[in-house]
Amino acid sequence: MSRIAYFGGTFDPVHSGHIGVAKALVPAFELDRLYFLPAFHAPHKPDRRPTSGYHRYAMLAIATADEPQLLVSTLELDKREKRYTIETLAELEQLHPGDTLFFVMGADSWMDIRTWKNWEEVLLAVNHIVVSRPGFALTSDHVTERVRERIIDLRTSGNILTQSIADDNHHIYITDAVRHDVSASELREDLSDGELERQDDIPAEVAKYIEKYELYT
Ligand code: ATP
Repeated sequence: MSRIAYFGGTFDPVHSGHIGVAKALVPAFELDRLYFLPAFHAPHKPDRRPTSGYHRYAMLAIATADEPQLLVSTLELDKREKRYTIETLAELEQLHPGDTLFFVMGADSWMDIRTWKNWEEVLLAVNHIVVSRPGFALTSDHVTERVRERIIDLRTSGNILTQSIADDNHHIYITDAVRHDVSASELREDLSDGELERQDDIPAEVAKYIEKYELYT
């Protein structure tokens, strides 16, 4: 039985906030693999059409090339249409029978969760890892009691590995293991202005790819 995480998002482009989260979660949650799961088109972010899935996939593949436990899933891109997380989770359960599945999201996604299709079902279907993000609150007043009961707040109750989980339910783990203040939309603005404020916000090889294909100019 493996412990497998999926980290959903647009990754337009992938940045060091995403990579930092992924690298920290693998040891903290004893994950065998963590897959980045780029969305064909984020259903709850209809305002902006993302960069082609081919480019977003390529940037993720480059960013994870030297990390054996970090992979990229094409599950949603392959569908060529909007997918809702509730549909994807059902497919992931079929793909990984008997494994322990975790779905990863940042604090902003968590605070927005009620806009997701069948959000309560999404939160109860697998384990979730909610990571804090600088500039975003991370509270749980917006979810139902049923969901709140499943929360294990590692900010106050220590290390996942020392937590003994007494029941068979899925849990929602909240962690502040990583703090990197960076966002894809700010990076796109910087890139279109021709200058990154901090070079290490984007992995160097990804930055070269962006320049080569003139992605955000
Ligand atoms: P945008 O600025 O356009 O909203 P983003 O930087 O949030 O983009 P996404 O691809 O939308 O990038 O993010 C995918 C997932 O990663 C989301 O769940 C988001 O909350 C999380 N995430 C993004 N950046 C960070 C960060 N710096 N720290 C923690 N989580 C993050």
